[in-house]
Amino acid sequence: MTIYTPPQEHPEHDALDAGLLAAVVRGEARLSPEQGLGLLTNAQTNTLGRWADARCRAVHGASVRTYVIDRNINYTNVCTARCTFCAFYRRQGDPEAYTLEYEQLFEKIEALSAIGGTQILMQGGMNPDLSLDWYLTLLREIKARYPHIHVHAFSPPEFIEFVSFFDPPGATLADKCRWVMVRLKEAGLDSIPGGGGEVFAPAVRTKIGLGKCSAEAWLTVMNVAHSLGMFTSATMMFGHIEGHADRVHHMRLVRDWQDRALLGFGEGTPDGPGGHYTAFISWPFQRENTPLGRLKEWPAPGDVEQYGEAYPGDAVARLDGSGTKNLHPEFGRRLRLAGATQYLRTQAVSRLMLDNIYSIGSSWVTMGPHIGQIALHFGANDMGSVMMEENVVSSAGTTYCLDEAVLCRLIRDAGFTPAQRNNRYDVVRLHAGATSPDRVVSDWSDHRAKRLHVEQAPAIVVNSADLTVGATT
Ligand code: SF4
Repeated sequence: MTIYTPPQEHPEHDALDAGLLAAVVRGEARLSPEQGLGLLTNAQTNTLGRWADARCRAVHGASVRTYVIDRNINYTNVCTARCTFCAFYRRQGDPEAYTLEYEQLFEKIEALSAIGGTQILMQGGMNPDLSLDWYLTLLREIKARYPHIHVHAFSPPEFIEFVSFFDPPGATLADKCRWVMVRLKEAGLDSIPGGGGEVFAPAVRTKIGLGKCSAEAWLTVMNVAHSLGMFTSATMMFGHIEGHADRVHHMRLVRDWQDRALLGFGEGTPDGPGGHYTAFISWPFQRENTPLGRLKEWPAPGDVEQYGEAYPGDAVARLDGSGTKNLHPEFGRRLRLAGATQYLRTQAVSRLMLDNIYSIGSSWVTMGPHIGQIALHFGANDMGSVMMEENVVSSAGTTYCLDEAVLCRLIRDAGFTPAQRNNRYDVVRLHAGATSPDRVVSDWSDHRAKRLHVEQAPAIVVNSADLTVGATT
């Protein structure tokens, strides 16, 4: 039995010290938050990519990169929260509000199963009309009909609202959450997706996630899942009002709580259930149709003259998450969107910072197929899902959808052998031979990136309260 021992930080080294980075690649040293921030802000992009790629190859080898065939099912768009980056939610009673019937859900899973899919990613808004029994029956029915399909469902904010809606017994949030989660797990829930991570720093989170759970609550839900032996993922949505230090603080919290899981429930405890984070996926905010997206970009005319060069998010951000909104008068009122370079840099830092997370996922859904492909050389080992359906991000304007042949070709053209994986990152099919999905295609004209299926029209009503995101919280 291997006892998990986290690598040690060496804060005396400069972030760009090649000796330090070589030790990080070997898993013998851990980046401090200051060093992570130094890399994010000062390293040359190609250098950062090379170190992240080297670390990825040390963990995953040099030959195979993976993808999963799953279906993203958004079972309801009714939500009690009002996240200002979200173009998906509807209020109760809205003409566009929906909750899928069981039969509709089963039809989607049937279609997934028919193309060799292995899992569903099922998330929704936080809908107070749905009872615990609705969820339990749904899970039992799915498992009875599709025992081979892995159910990856209900992100931490949904669990926090389950606690609120169902009023389970328990003295603490963790106790109440465990009560609900145990029942959902028994009914068929297999693992928990990392949705709703956004940015953990309170100053940012309270601005963009109106009505959504705190970072501590989010991390607590995942810790409960880990204590029950469940695998989870972690996410970060950046490129809005946050500072660079907020991204590193977010990664640091994930790393700390992963240590806690691995020491408490993993190899460190011989009889422990072994639950932990298996993956980290980050992507830039998509602005279309969202209240947050209507903020001015930094710098707006006159900003620099009035406030100086520093971006408000950077003026507020602290590596320990202690920044407060009153540190800059324009905090939360100006966007700094992340393009391809910032995305690749941030992902590369996540690979180097998160030495205890196995998989770093590329985000081609938001960045497009070819940036997603390049991401395989910036620390990502996994191309995520062949996306049959996605409704939340696509409501904010993202339109990429790839089939299996294209995804395999992207991986192969990046210099790797594509392989279909399952939720545990075991290889299900290695596509090395002549009958691989990309190698049997002779006419690629039918295999281009396609527009994602959008369950509901993406129009959103923006009310005046939403538009004051920068001023009201
Ligand atoms: S992001 Fe999720 S929690 Fe926030 S409003 Fe949209 S559906 Fe609700």
